[in-house]
Amino acid sequence: MPYDAVIIGAGIFGCGIAYELSRRGLTVGVVDMHPGPGLGSTSSSGAVIRFNYSTVDGVRMAWEGNQYWVNFADYLETTDHSHGVAHKVPTGLVFLRSDEPLHQLYVRNLSEAGVPFEEWTAAETAARHPYLSMAEFGGATSPDDERFWADPVGELPGALFTPDAGYVSDPQLAAQNLHTAARAKGATFHFNSRVDDILHDGSAVSGVRLRSGDELYAPIVVNGGGPWSATINEIAGLADAMAIRTRPMRHEAHLAPAPPGVDFEADGAVFGDLDQGMYFRPAAGNNIFIGSADPECDGHDWVDDLDGLNREITEVAWDRQTMRLAKRLPDFGVPHQRRGLAEAYDVSSDWGPIYDRTDLDGFFVAIGTSGNQFKNACVASHLMGELITAVTTGHDHDADPLVVPGRYTGTPIAMGAFSRNRDVNPDSTGTVLG
Ligand SMILES: Cc1cc2nc3c(=O)[nH]c(=O)nc-3n(C[C@H](O)[C@H](O)[C@H](O)COP(=O)(O)OP(=O)(O)OC[C@H]3O[C@@H](n4cnc5c(N)ncnc54)[C@H](O)[C@@H]3O)c2cc1C
Repeated sequence: MPYDAVIIGAGIFGCGIAYELSRRGLTVGVVDMHPGPGLGSTSSSGAVIRFNYSTVDGVRMAWEGNQYWVNFADYLETTDHSHGVAHKVPTGLVFLRSDEPLHQLYVRNLSEAGVPFEEWTAAETAARHPYLSMAEFGGATSPDDERFWADPVGELPGALFTPDAGYVSDPQLAAQNLHTAARAKGATFHFNSRVDDILHDGSAVSGVRLRSGDELYAPIVVNGGGPWSATINEIAGLADAMAIRTRPMRHEAHLAPAPPGVDFEADGAVFGDLDQGMYFRPAAGNNIFIGSADPECDGHDWVDDLDGLNREITEVAWDRQTMRLAKRLPDFGVPHQRRGLAEAYDVSSDWGPIYDRTDLDGFFVAIGTSGNQFKNACVASHLMGELITAVTTGHDHDADPLVVPGRYTGTPIAMGAFSRNRDVNPDSTGTVLG
């Protein structure tokens, strides 16, 4: 029996969109090559919820997205969660002030979007987080560069604090929860199934062909393939059809114990530290999750063969991340045992997402999440639900981009900001910060 919609990918996006479309009464089939939900890049996510974005639209989106995590259990509309429900850990975000123009841009955007924030001096920051060094190192370098070992160039002037930031306790569980909620509304999941072809007649999509040879028919197909998005667009014949492109980039994140005597889970926060090119947050067991903010000196690890992605933690990435952290947390002892993960981001031309229709009628994309859209997965799924409904009932989204009121805040979200054919955002940091 044909579906109303087939979604490729059962990550946080595929599960979220399946839930939103099923709520709207569509019959939905979701296909994933993994054996269960959230086992792709979602399971590696830092799951940080933050509001510092380089565009006001980006801030509004993240602010609305936050309300979904605050209300996540109610949003799911089902109590059938045998493994529990993911929740928001509200630590706040301390974004160290090292780049004055970026700081001013964030202050403007947060003010315009009505997101609460505080500007802390260096003394206030140190008083609240005494384990932190406020030294300024003049930008990230690698331990094999002699500048890495030089004395600090000064002291950072303070931090931008957003009290409502935090992180989601377990990103894979969140996808599992959405999968359960979508199934409760009637969605069907096809796991261990790989989409090898998109069925279409050149102008409209009609379904997908699986590696097994089976075909699933639907007049709506959604690319929710995460780092595989470019491959899926290519098999749909859309490789050159969008101004904004996507490309997988390998990324390592690391895990290390908090400094002795510091209860980082209770007293820590999410920290953004562009002076050292990284971010870090508390993790279960009084550990620290250390992510990279892609400083220029590290280069970009683009991936041509995702099936062959190197999932080993490399010595070079481990050393630079943990040794940078040691400069920010002077009592942190770099452990001998390397722990962490390696995954791929689905990076777009300007590190912002694409939530859009395509030139192939019925084929939609929720891609280009660029290492920074886990937090927005639920609100973006709602936007995709509204977009798919509008476009399939005749709305010309390209000529008249949809503006969707946020379900919780009522804030109008202009979907033109996430267009496949937008101009590259000139204010993009060109990093995971978006
Ligand atoms: C290390 C890391 C840290 C991150 N930290 C943060 C953070 O702190 N905050 C934040 O907001 N975001 C963060 N992100 C980004 C966020 O996690 C991702 O944007 C999000 O999880 C992407 O979800 P997805 O559903 O699009 O992709 P995925 O979870 O990768 O799901 C895509 C699915 O599609 C399936 N698939 C692909 N192609 C096919 C095919 N042909 N046939 C069948 N199935 C297919 C895959 O198997 C996969 O399960 C981070 C990402 C990474 C990797």
